[in-house]
Amino acid sequence: MKQFVLASHNEHKVQEVRTILSNLSMDIKSLSDLDIHDEIIEDGKTLNANAWIKADYLYNRGHQNVIADDTGLEVLALGGAPGVYSARYAGPQKNSEDNMRKLLSELENKTDRSAQFRTVIACYIDGQKHTFEGIVKGKIDQNKTGEGGFGYDPLFIPDGYELSFAVLSSEVKNEISHRGRALEKLKQFLSSDNIY
Ligand code: IMP
Repeated sequence: MKQFVLASHNEHKVQEVRTILSNLSMDIKSLSDLDIHDEIIEDGKTLNANAWIKADYLYNRGHQNVIADDTGLEVLALGGAPGVYSARYAGPQKNSEDNMRKLLSELENKTDRSAQFRTVIACYIDGQKHTFEGIVKGKIDQNKTGEGGFGYDPLFIPDGYELSFAVLSSEVKNEISHRGRALEKLKQFLSSDNIY
């Protein structure tokens, strides 16, 4: 069984990745599992650049199989903001409540509230580079609803639904989400190439 390093300490994300890739013969270790606590400076200007900063860092530490992802919320009326700055939209404290408050205030006078979450996955598989992308389109609601999920979930209503990601079950979210879709592409690649 091949070992993969997932460039995250986020237990929620690690579980999601393990669940989606569970029928492949992969041993997925998080940074915490491997006791890697270095701060990786994500100073890229795009999601793609940041995902590769994390993947390259781990590859250069000697890992042949690496999965790194970066996600952003892209709001049409704001020219794609907060995008790559989603985590620290309202400041370096990276606080979701502050970020959502700022987003609602920026959208106060806008009629078009369409938005998308986009995830880029940068991978090394047996030392070869591969990139996968997943998108979920939707809109930013006027008010927050729900207790589930994280980040901007209470404000994001995916197309085809009337409830926010924070109200929808994690099963539904995983199935239609940006990260779920990007991981599904990675899974298809690994299975169709008969790597696993
Ligand atoms: P990361 O690249 O996964 O760390 O995501 C960057 C930021 O995007 C997070 O800090 C959240 O604010 C936001 N974000 C990422 N994924 C989600 C999600 O599934 N729901 C809501 N917000 C998210």
